[in-house]
Amino acid sequence: MADGPAARLREVHLRIEGAARAAGRDPAEVRLLAVSKTFGAEAVAAMARCGQTEFGENYVQEGVAKIGALRAEWPALCWHFIGPLQSNKTRDVAAGFDWVHSIDRVSVARRLSAQRPPPGEHGVPAPLQVCLQVNVSGEASKSGVVPEELPGLAREVARLPGLRLRGLMCIPAPATDAAAQRAPFARLRELRDDLAARLGLSLDTLSMGMSADLEAAVLEGATIVRVGSALFGERPARAQR
Ligand SMILES: *Cc1c(COP(=O)(O)O)cnc(C)c1O
Repeated sequence: MADGPAARLREVHLRIEGAARAAGRDPAEVRLLAVSKTFGAEAVAAMARCGQTEFGENYVQEGVAKIGALRAEWPALCWHFIGPLQSNKTRDVAAGFDWVHSIDRVSVARRLSAQRPPPGEHGVPAPLQVCLQVNVSGEASKSGVVPEELPGLAREVARLPGLRLRGLMCIPAPATDAAAQRAPFARLRELRDDLAARLGLSLDTLSMGMSADLEAAVLEGATIVRVGSALFGERPARAQR
């Protein structure tokens, strides 16, 4: 078993490369998002020293604190918000993060757009890059827009000046066999292709795949995989949420 951030990072890159080659894809098309939720700023800095630049956070307060703690030493890190987002927490996300993957309501999108600081302020480049979270598992999941309501939401979000719609994200119900893992990812890719054609937009992002199923996601076209425990180790059970 790999231990230490450098070895873990290398192992995850090898997994991504293996799956990309099996799919006939260029491994460079797949960005690795290191999900650092529940781990401290020091763990992020250790991963940054190994060359990792993109980090994902689920909880607003925790993420904002880490971004603040690391900004001086690591100003070029790219921060992605990937957790459930309530309307009353949008301001900190709009100001502190570069990406949001978990938009599933137009009310939250409107607030993020209005609250996104103009370019140059706080050193953030506008607009905020966003993905719509889609519920591809039906009853099993409470977050994400249902596929039927996706085109309507996408149309609204694409119009918001503070946001740039990049694509779709999903968190399927856990599955262990490869075919069951791949099905929801294939579905998300089809939804993305359909949406891009309908709206006439280039949606270049499919945010899908985590530690347990990143190969299946890469085989189905993931452009961002969100990997936590395979990079940072197991999270304390209580904080897994
Ligand atoms: C925690 C989390 C991940 C990473 O999960 P691992 O199984 O630890 O790789 C990815 N995406 C989201 C939205 C998460 O909340």
